Amino acid sequence: MDDKKNITGVVHSGLCHGCGTCVSICKFNAIEMKETPLGFLCAELQEDKCVACGLCFDVCPGRGLNPALISEHINPFKGQPTEAFLVKATDKELLRGAQSGGAVTAILCHLLESHAVDSVVTCRMSKQNPLRPEVFKAVTSEEVWEARTSKYCPVPLMASLNLPNDAFDSRLAMVGLGCHVHGLRNVQARFDCARKESPFVVGLMCAGTLSYRMIDYLLSCAGVTSDEVASFYYRKKGEHGWPGDVAICTKDGREIFVSKKRRLESKPLFESLRCRLCFDQTNLFADVVVGDPWGLRGDKEGLSVVLVRTSRGSRVLRECAEANSVVLEPVDVDRVFQGQTIDSRHCREWAAMSAIWQTKGRELPEYGINSRWVVEPNEHTLRNCTRRLNKLLQLSEIHDPCEVEQCIRKHVQYLKFRRYISVFATARRYSLSIIKHLINRIRKAVKP
Ligand SMILES: Cc1cc2nc3c(=O)[nH]c(=O)nc-3n(C[C@H](O)[C@H](O)[C@H](O)COP(=O)(O)OP(=O)(O)OC[C@H]3O[C@@H](n4cnc5c(N)ncnc54)[C@H](O)[C@@H]3O)c2cc1C
Repeated sequence: MDDKKNITGVVHSGLCHGCGTCVSICKFNAIEMKETPLGFLCAELQEDKCVACGLCFDVCPGRGLNPALISEHINPFKGQPTEAFLVKATDKELLRGAQSGGAVTAILCHLLESHAVDSVVTCRMSKQNPLRPEVFKAVTSEEVWEARTSKYCPVPLMASLNLPNDAFDSRLAMVGLGCHVHGLRNVQARFDCARKESPFVVGLMCAGTLSYRMIDYLLSCAGVTSDEVASFYYRKKGEHGWPGDVAICTKDGREIFVSKKRRLESKPLFESLRCRLCFDQTNLFADVVVGDPWGLRGDKEGLSVVLVRTSRGSRVLRECAEANSVVLEPVDVDRVFQGQTIDSRHCREWAAMSAIWQTKGRELPEYGINSRWVVEPNEHTLRNCTRRLNKLLQLSEIHDPCEVEQCIRKHVQYLKFRRYISVFATARRYSLSIIKHLINRIRKAVKP
């Protein structure tokens, strides 16, 4: 077998998602997920256990999609959702601890309680290490509640499945990002295209994951060390409600918030290079897709936006409404895509990032996307994406943890400097307007 045709080739090409599909498909336990100094997950192959069967390579969503999955007639950036809703869970306690409107948790609980499925693959922050997610199979609604909120970091969800069997288990549900669902669909296509049985898939919208190093950075913003942390939330509704700030609960009972602004401004340093090459922000292959109601209606309690992609998804969502576990408000599908900036930003950025990646002689993931769906990026997007991609590439070449540390420190200094400048500029604007106001008053007063 060609040397490159195992998971190591994918890792070397910079295309590993860290999703865990290869770990699960390998029956020789030859693959493990390892945390890199930059704080991402990457597959690592133990050559002595590898029998060179090539399965890990065949099903890897990092290197692309099985050609049977993509139709040239369907816009891959949007798919063909049949309906869209704003959704709110009716249980106030569930809603308070959920990321948005609690749609994911309400749907998964309904599936378990109505005995439509036996278990749900999901993730929670680990009890042993509250700064890392752990994947688990929830079998009760209480366990599904424990998994609420978004983990914007790498989650090796697929590694916990028993593949290929679980890929055809209709008594299973899972909640995952686009890359996780690509892994599932690749396995199904590789093993038996014709089989209709599949886990129920709740997909999350996803504009990309962020490195574990961002957690360290957010702790430093809060002045807390990792040993002090009892629990960590990327976004907690708290007293300001949705969308929520970063919240860190300490073992001695303090709750410290770091503003959403601080989280967002630090994102460029921690974003995943691989995610920049993923076209699938709206989770094309899920039964239902859940996201925040960006561009639609704000609501401090939280609302989820749900795209329905399959008849099974539609039936389950309606059952949830009939059982009074969620309230549904129909919305226009196109407005959901507008809110997620699919045409105005995502498509262009994806095209720009892919083009720049290719000009560097790098291998692109094989998505088989027909050029008719691709929106040409303008000059501004190309310039911006070149800067971002170069920065990420530069970072990805650092393997020494001390150098990574230095790089983060430099960026943090830059952020501080930017903040001072903006405070100074605001103060200057403010004082200029006060001076102008005073001059006007004096003019009026001395006017004959
Ligand atoms: C990395 C990431 C990027 C996102 N990007 C966008 C975006 O661009 N636009 C947008 O509208 N929404 C995005 N979301 C989705 C959004 O943050 C909420 O998760 C979504 O609105 C669901 O809210 P909810 O209240 O219904 O979920 P909840 O009821 O709080 O349940 C959330 C469920 O998702 C599971 N989950 C959380 N993180 C992960 C993960 N990393 N992998 C697998 N399962 C996970 C939890 O375990 C839980 O079961 C993103 C989420 C993630 C994790």
